[in-house]
Amino acid sequence: MISSWQHPGFLARTLDTLFSGHCRFCSAPATGDGLCSGCHEDLPWITASCRRCGLPLASGAPVCAACLSHPPPFDHTVALWRYEAGIETLIRRFKLHGDLAAGRLLTRLAARELGTRQTPCPGPLMAMPMHPRRRRRRGFNQSALIASWLGPVVRKPLVIRHRDTPPQRRLDAEGRCHNLKGAFRLCRRPPAAVTLVDDVMTTGASLTEVAHCLRAGCRRIDVVVLARAL
Ligand SMILES: [Zn+2]
Ligand SMILES: [Zn+2]
Repeated sequence: MISSWQHPGFLARTLDTLFSGHCRFCSAPATGDGLCSGCHEDLPWITASCRRCGLPLASGAPVCAACLSHPPPFDHTVALWRYEAGIETLIRRFKLHGDLAAGRLLTRLAARELGTRQTPCPGPLMAMPMHPRRRRRRGFNQSALIASWLGPVVRKPLVIRHRDTPPQRRLDAEGRCHNLKGAFRLCRRPPAAVTLVDDVMTTGASLTEVAHCLRAGCRRIDVVVLARAL
């Protein structure tokens, strides 16, 4: 169990702020994290959500109806933001344009919020695996960077993605599940607890597949994602 969510390294933080003391969105003077207080407040924060899958819930219920009838193979999920407005822009800049400063800004904001909420992290962090071909094309795995900036990660891969599948973006929920069948494989015995890290969760199909693999040894699986697409 780690007791605090780490901020990205001091050097990265210094480099990010060396060039600009201004808010990433509006150019007003920024606070330590790289946004002004107004833009920080305006982010689409998720404050009440299903504790199993991170779905925003206006009712205040602890678990959503879908998780009550079909509980996912992970125990607890924190999604910090809705995938909209400024968050969507930052994630797309990071993922599709290799804007690492955008990724570090998101991770700093996430680390601070996870610490403030005293979010548990019962095991080492494990990034969502990416197929090697896709990682070569993109040049990096965004989830692996987020995980390494957030805290201690698993030393060796636990689950690999051994089948490259078409992007999930254009598929509906059923298509996403079918697309991923057999795409992941457990490659060694997992520890008793693991915290899975990803950038965006949509239906949770990929996280579900990976968590099914990990259940071969994990008693507890937590999930932390930056954003929840609805
Ligand atoms: Zn601002
Ligand atoms: Zn749920």
